[in-house]
Amino acid sequence: MSSKKILVLGSVNADHLVRVPRLPKPGETVAGKDYEVIPGGKGANQAVACARLGGQTAFIACVGDDAFGAVMIQRFKADGIDTQAVCQVADQMTGVALICVDSQAENCIVIAPGANAKLTTRRVQAQQALIAGSDYLLMQLETPLDGLLEAVEIAHNAGVKVVLNPAPAKALPDELLTRVDMITPNQTEAELLTGISVNDVVGAAEAAGKLHAMGIETVVITLGSQGVWISEEGNGRLVEGYSVTPVDTTAAGDTFNGAMLVALSHGESLDKAANFANAAAALSVTRHGAQPSIPSRDEVEKLVA
Ligand code: ATP
Repeated sequence: MSSKKILVLGSVNADHLVRVPRLPKPGETVAGKDYEVIPGGKGANQAVACARLGGQTAFIACVGDDAFGAVMIQRFKADGIDTQAVCQVADQMTGVALICVDSQAENCIVIAPGANAKLTTRRVQAQQALIAGSDYLLMQLETPLDGLLEAVEIAHNAGVKVVLNPAPAKALPDELLTRVDMITPNQTEAELLTGISVNDVVGAAEAAGKLHAMGIETVVITLGSQGVWISEEGNGRLVEGYSVTPVDTTAAGDTFNGAMLVALSHGESLDKAANFANAAAALSVTRHGAQPSIPSRDEVEKLVA
C-alpha cells in the first residue's frame, strides 16, 4: 500500500492514574486504589495511533532524561515510529498527568509539562528538513505555541498539509489558524474557537462555516458517540459513529486523529477516512487507558468491514 509520510509534533506524558470512590475536595485526602502509570500525552497518543494503524510515522517530541523518557522512546520504536526527532532533554522530567478517576468515571487531572515545555522554536528549527520532507504535519496544543508556529511556518512554506487538533481547548492566534489546512476540534474546542454552541449537527455546520471563514479548508468536528461532522469548503455532512459500550473515553480523540491521518495518507477520501477513524476511536473507548486502548489495524478493519 503506497503511503504518504505523517509527522506528529507534540507532547509525551506519563499518566499516573488512581481510582478513587469520589474526587477529593480542597484540603481533603481520599484513599484510592489500582495505581497505574500509563503512557499518554496527546502527541504521543496520536503518533502511536498513526503507527499502530499502519501509517508511515515520525514524531517530534521532548522527553526527560529519566527512566520514563527512555522507556517511552523504546515503546515508540516498538510501535514502528521513527524517533530520530524525539529528544531526551538533560535535567528535565518527562511530562506527567496526575489523574483521579471516581466510580462514575468522572475525573480530575493535573498536568505538569516537564520536558514538553522545551519543544520550542530552536528545537523545531533543528527538524526543518524532517518537517519539509513530510506530507502531513499533525499537531495539538500541549507543547509551547512558539514551537508550533515555527513548525507551521516551515510546513506551510514547503507545501506540507498542516492538520491541527486544537486540544486542550484554548484561544489561538490568527497567524496559526490561517496556515492550518485541516482542523479537528471536539465540541468544546469548536465552541471556544467560534463562539457557537456545538450540541448537534446544526451547531456543527454553523461552527464549521465560521472556521472556513478563518481560511481553513477542511473542518472535522468530532461529536462523541454521534460520530463526526466533516466539511470541505462549506460542503458538510455527518459521518455516523459506531455503537459500542464505552468504558473509558481517554484518547478517543487522539485515536480518531491518528486513524484519520493514516487513511488520508493511504489516499482514502475524507468520508472513508472519517469512517475508519470513527471505528478506531469507538474501539478505543471500549478499553482503559490512553495508548493501551489504541487498536491495531486488523481490529479496525474487522469493525469497518
Ligand atoms: P477525548 O477527550 O475523550 O479523547 P474528544 O473529546 O477529543 O475525546 P470526542 O468527540 O468525544 O473527542 O470523540 C472522538 C471520537 O471518538 C468521536 O468522533 C467518535 O468517533 C469516537 N467516540 C467517542 N465517544 C464514543 C462513544 N461513546 N461511542 C462510540 N464512539 C465514540
